Amino acid sequence: MLTTTKALEAVLAEIKTFDTETISANKAAGRILQQIVQAERSQPPFNRVMMDGIALSWNDFSDGQLTFPIQAMQAAGDQALSLQVGHCIEIMTGASLPNNADCIVPIEQIHIANGIATIKADYELKKKSFIHPCGSDFEKGAHLLIPGKRISPLDIAIIASCGKTEVIVAKDPVIRVISTGNELVAAGNAIEAHQIRMSNGPAIVSLLKSHNYKKTNHDHIIDDISELRNRLAEHLDEAEVIILSGGVSMGKTDYIPQVLKDLKVKVIFHKVSQRPGKPMWFGRGSKGQMVFALPGNPVSALVCCRQYVIAALSSASGASEGLSELAVIESDISFKPELTFFLPVKLISNISGQVLAMPVKTNTSGDFASLSATDGYIELAKNQTHFSAGTAVPLHRWIAR
Ligand code: AMP
Ligand code: MG
Repeated sequence: MLTTTKALEAVLAEIKTFDTETISANKAAGRILQQIVQAERSQPPFNRVMMDGIALSWNDFSDGQLTFPIQAMQAAGDQALSLQVGHCIEIMTGASLPNNADCIVPIEQIHIANGIATIKADYELKKKSFIHPCGSDFEKGAHLLIPGKRISPLDIAIIASCGKTEVIVAKDPVIRVISTGNELVAAGNAIEAHQIRMSNGPAIVSLLKSHNYKKTNHDHIIDDISELRNRLAEHLDEAEVIILSGGVSMGKTDYIPQVLKDLKVKVIFHKVSQRPGKPMWFGRGSKGQMVFALPGNPVSALVCCRQYVIAALSSASGASEGLSELAVIESDISFKPELTFFLPVKLISNISGQVLAMPVKTNTSGDFASLSATDGYIELAKNQTHFSAGTAVPLHRWIAR
């Protein structure tokens, strides 16, 4: 049986990068950038005044002058004036430094009366003080953002500052989440004692949406071979990514592997040596569609979605970010089976600022209620049975940070 590492490698090896699309910069947060964003101008684009106060010439001050007739007032957005010898210009934060001026005295350090500004006697004025020099943050043409960057709200500031109204990003793929099972009844419909509420579909859709894959819809199909074959054929026609849940184990009504084979979806692997989620299935459709068939148990389905589907989508979007990090185990953990153990955890930080992972026991792999308290899961290696408190292990957060 494939290890978790080999399974992830096998998924990533099958990835075809998504096309790109041009979208409004206002809607780009969370998307993966697919262009270089170059500085439109140097920053700041002029010698920028950093304080409200007066602008003057260091030469005048160093000659012992403390009182300066106010020549004019210059605000942010005004064209730079030319300072006359022995004078000052009242100046506002964000203004362009007047010609011939080379220092700013903050308003708190002056007294103004009858059109004359007097600098406080004990103020230690330094040359070039409170001037943000032209081009000191970056030069025109600098590569401020590069392809593969997930666009953050902070990057939106950069894009806007470069005068761009649109950016090129990885296309949002059309994704179909398809739950299966005769026992499942959606919220809002009457339910009988022997039936189960359908929860995987809505949960997987919203996990994907929280990772910014918005073109994601849910459908449900009963465990009936011809129904599965017909409806899945339509979904394979319409979507680039198919995510099934249920019907991939050894049960008599677990028809998914057979139906996918009938539909010419090539199996890449079936079963991974992990808990939860051992029956995990992955394949490629005849048009290159990625097809993930996750086990139906709710904890398994969510772990497999985060572990394989989200990783695949991120890679196909060209994201340069790593999706996992490390966390320190908060208490000793023992796990005997020779399987990789994906253990849901709650994260806290200790007084040294380390991220601690507190195991949250799920009763079974169907126990989705326990997951609510968790931030993600840790990955405990297959060839080890005891993990001591204090050990750093891979952490996978449900929602990317
Ligand atoms: P399966 O993988 O189809 O054998 O399903 C395993 C278990 O998960 C069964 O107890 C199912 O009732 C449950 N299950 C499967 N799909 C869902 C779903 N969409 N929502 C909630 N539970 C599910
Ligand atoms: Mg089932």
